[in-house]
Amino acid sequence: MPYLADIIIDRVAEALDHPFTYSVPDFLKETIRIGQLVRVPLGGSRVQGVVRNLRWGEAGSQTRAVEAILQTEPVVTPLLLELADWLADRYLCYGAQALRAMIPASVRKDVGSRPSMVWYRTVGVRQGRASLKQRLFDYVAAQPAVSRADLAEAFPNAGPALRALVAEGALEVLTHAPDRVAGAPAGYGLTPAQQEALAVILRDPKRPWLLEGVTGSGKTEVYLALIENALHEGRQALVLLPEIALTPQVVRRFRDRFGDQVAVWHSGLSAGERRQTWERVRQGKIPVVVGARSAVFLPFPAMGVIVLDEEHEPTYKQEEHPRYHAREVALWRGAREGATIVLGSATPAIETRYSALSGQIGHVRLPERVLGRSLPEVTVVDMREELRLGNRDIFSSALREALADALERGEQAILFLNRRGYSTFVLCRSCGQALECRHCAVSLTYHQRENRLVCHYCMRESPVPKRCPECGSDKIRYFGAGTERVVEEVQRHFPEARILRADRDTLTRPADYAELYQKFLGGEADVLVGTQMIAKGMDFPRVSLVGVVAADTALHLPDYRSAERTFQLLVQAGGRSGRGEVPGRVVIQTYNPEHYAIHHAYRHDYAAFYEEEIRFREATHYPPYADLWLMVTEGPEEAEVRQRAVQAALDLREHWPDAEVLGPAPAPLARVRGLYRYHVLMKMDRTREADGLAMALKDFQSRQPGVSITRDPYFLM
Ligand code: ADP
Ligand code: ZN
Ligand code: ZN
Repeated sequence: MPYLADIIIDRVAEALDHPFTYSVPDFLKETIRIGQLVRVPLGGSRVQGVVRNLRWGEAGSQTRAVEAILQTEPVVTPLLLELADWLADRYLCYGAQALRAMIPASVRKDVGSRPSMVWYRTVGVRQGRASLKQRLFDYVAAQPAVSRADLAEAFPNAGPALRALVAEGALEVLTHAPDRVAGAPAGYGLTPAQQEALAVILRDPKRPWLLEGVTGSGKTEVYLALIENALHEGRQALVLLPEIALTPQVVRRFRDRFGDQVAVWHSGLSAGERRQTWERVRQGKIPVVVGARSAVFLPFPAMGVIVLDEEHEPTYKQEEHPRYHAREVALWRGAREGATIVLGSATPAIETRYSALSGQIGHVRLPERVLGRSLPEVTVVDMREELRLGNRDIFSSALREALADALERGEQAILFLNRRGYSTFVLCRSCGQALECRHCAVSLTYHQRENRLVCHYCMRESPVPKRCPECGSDKIRYFGAGTERVVEEVQRHFPEARILRADRDTLTRPADYAELYQKFLGGEADVLVGTQMIAKGMDFPRVSLVGVVAADTALHLPDYRSAERTFQLLVQAGGRSGRGEVPGRVVIQTYNPEHYAIHHAYRHDYAAFYEEEIRFREATHYPPYADLWLMVTEGPEEAEVRQRAVQAALDLREHWPDAEVLGPAPAPLARVRGLYRYHVLMKMDRTREADGLAMALKDFQSRQPGVSITRDPYFLM
């Protein structure tokens, strides 16, 4: 009987979305293994695929043979193959798409044998002025070692400064991946609360845990202790962070403890670094990885612990195929690999806390900040009242006074605003028309520095028209403040204040974060104005004031998570205040002070917020009480798109009477990049058998071009 291999073809196509059977020629029988990357004939061409299964069986007359094994070491473990099947079923994607999430492109494409690489590592300490040289040094110092490719990406034109640093002995050049260096032991012991949390988790390490701890309660120390424990047992550890928190400074805390045993994994890595790290993980040579969501697929041989820090962050959900959530994948892996899963947050996702309260996962809490530090004092300002008192400024008098106080005492302040640019919309005062992007149904944002209008969805830029395109009037005015405008206002009120701005316009490369962080930490600025991208991860001990300029921006979005997101942002932003010796203050400006998201954020009362939110979810039948699917239909012709959406909704209602089908309706973002968009939302009771529905939806999606279906969507626009 011939020896057969079932192969998953590395092509994203409906017709290829099942294993293909090939025979294994004699010369490969000894070496072929499950999980290997192989080359096979397909039709008139040759393609790559992954060995899914090996067996003895009857070959058909058409059965062709495997041609070559492309890499001796399997690229996926049997467990990851199983995970790929699960991903394909759960998130409605093809097997090939699931595997692509697990195998770096540079491995799949088998580029070269091994790129020749050079790494840099710092020697000793170097304290200089904030020159390019110093910034380079700080950047390298925050990681075990940095490859030349990565440095070139972060600092284009850094060649001479780099050579100078090597010449002065501050940087060391390595021609091989850095060896392991053990880190320093813990600088201080755990507090009794931290010890207790650790002990509770270690008493039952095979179950997933929610670690609910207020900002500054010392969750990270608990993670470090758990990792230490895993390493002692000879197992590996994975720490997942929201991408925006992956600054060298955060990574440094792990490196300070575990030295060169730590590798990082994020979207800024070059293909060569990605391949290198992935290979060393596979060989068990990297005990600790600190990474963004896709690190959850790394092929650790003996996973001991997976930490998801800030587990409520939406960046853990991938919006493209496979549309997975890193928390769900981590829980899947934990259950099969016997790893400890720790979901940490000051403001857990409603679903996560629901699982904890219903006993599906364990629950430990750190209700207080370490060392008796208090949570910041919060003031909520009703901006309607300010208007009534004649204040048309973007700052309330309370925020202005608090800023003045902080500046006078030489302390630092952070101002949050969830919009970059100068104004959020541009309006003709004569006819009331807001200027919109021609390709997207969204209003344009004015950016002062470039003096251009920008569409934040398709990124197209255009000059500011002198006259209204509708009525020809010249009464064009800017409304709604963006970060640029806030900077201008701070400068106007406090001419001496030194201000930094942090948003997607000013922070474009990983090195920009490091630079900003160093500058603000080093006291080179008094006020930091930024979007949510600086709301987490960064620890500035001299910040005594956090101002939330407009708390309502996310509150009225057509998204069932809008209250949750608002509450989380307010608490996380407030958590940046008073982290050092200086007690903190938070001023929240809002037009909805009575809204429960704002009211409970004001009192740091997550439990009370949860109680109210979970009742709303139950009453409206949203997660965690129902599974949610969002079907987006897109196309250039509106009538045709609507027709397809109507038909889809009809089909669903007919075949799945148990599912609640909402719509179709034009999406809140009704047109993006010239494509019209319609939504159909489906809710299915969690207690019902929904697997059949998932399969039907997957089938539907693959038959309909321009239709995409997301399970548990995070982007409802
Ligand atoms: P979280 O992750 O919960 O926001 P962190 O772990 O960042 O909290 O801790 C907040 C601050 O308290 C950090 O500056 C940290 O160094 C410090 N810290 C944490 N645990 C201890 C401890 N046991 N003793 C002294 N300082 C601690
Ligand atoms: Zn007009
Ligand atoms: Zn646009």
